[in-house]
Amino acid sequence: VGLQINGRTKLAGVVGWPLGHTLSPAMHNAAYDAMRLNWVYLPLPVKDESGLIQLCEAARVLPFVGFNVTMPYKQAMLALCDEVAMLAKLAGAVNTVHCVDGRLIGYNTDGRGFLEALGSETDFVSEGISVAMIGAGGAAGAAIVSLILGKAARITIVNRTLGRAEKLIERLGDRVHGTQVSVALLDEGAADVVRSADLVVNATPVGMSRDDPSPIPSSWLRSGQVVADMVYRPEPTALLLDAAAAGATTVGGMGMLVAQGAVAIDIWNESAQSRTPRDVMRAAAAEMLSGSIATFEELGI
Ligand code: NAP
Repeated sequence: VGLQINGRTKLAGVVGWPLGHTLSPAMHNAAYDAMRLNWVYLPLPVKDESGLIQLCEAARVLPFVGFNVTMPYKQAMLALCDEVAMLAKLAGAVNTVHCVDGRLIGYNTDGRGFLEALGSETDFVSEGISVAMIGAGGAAGAAIVSLILGKAARITIVNRTLGRAEKLIERLGDRVHGTQVSVALLDEGAADVVRSADLVVNATPVGMSRDDPSPIPSSWLRSGQVVADMVYRPEPTALLLDAAAAGATTVGGMGMLVAQGAVAIDIWNESAQSRTPRDVMRAAAAEMLSGSIATFEELGI
């Protein structure tokens, strides 16, 4: 079919900085094409928060179905929405905005994307499990909220700084229901917490650079665990190589990236039943990854 822009084309995109390496336009445009949606998804690079505010004003008057929000604006976007879904409030981050009659409605699809990927790539069930969540930022918050909804028994937030992890627990307040949530410092003392967990998650950016080490020592990992890395490039990360060597089941970040994007399309499309083709999105992202990284680096983008 191919992209055909006309007077009725609706807009979508991703706002962030920098966006030179984003896979989202490739993933989304491939899905719109397969779904025969007359939408186009654009990179929307804005350098600072005043640019973000201007983008929000433009999105109110232009025919946007919505836009995704990525680093470093997921937290700032919370305050710029007219309405924010409870899940995004609890996570402390908005990654998807739905534009409805000039109003901006904030959502967070990272948590649902995370659980969908785990469920489709392993025989993982969240009910009753113990989790070691490494990191306490927006992505960790979103995953934790979804794990609480999935009735996990225990979640320990293992972070470099305790304050950020404690703020996340404060925000969750009495919404933790039956899940026991606690914090631990990311140092030698966290070894037992990680080793005893059924699910270990990296929700830090450690691993995004090709020569990054794992965020935790390999001796903390064991067989019988599921180890998930939210980092999707390079794949596999040092953490996942260590986990595989320890006999654990590994899950990379690509499935989450695809699923959070697919759930965003479902929101914009106002479809109760998802028909967003994950396989098409994954293939487009993989093609982009295999074909273009060297070129981006050569160009210095
Ligand atoms: P964020 O809000 O900036 O939070 C980052 C977290 O990582 C913080 O807890 C921070 O600890 C910790 N951290 C940063 N550098 C660290 C280091 N060198 N050592 C130990 N901890 C470190 O970021 P985010 O939005 O949550 O994203 C986190 C990661 O998830 C990113 O790599 C992002 O690409 C990935 N992600 C992937 C997907 C996907 O679809 N696959 C979706 C969302 C996010 P402090 O509190 O101590 O600063």
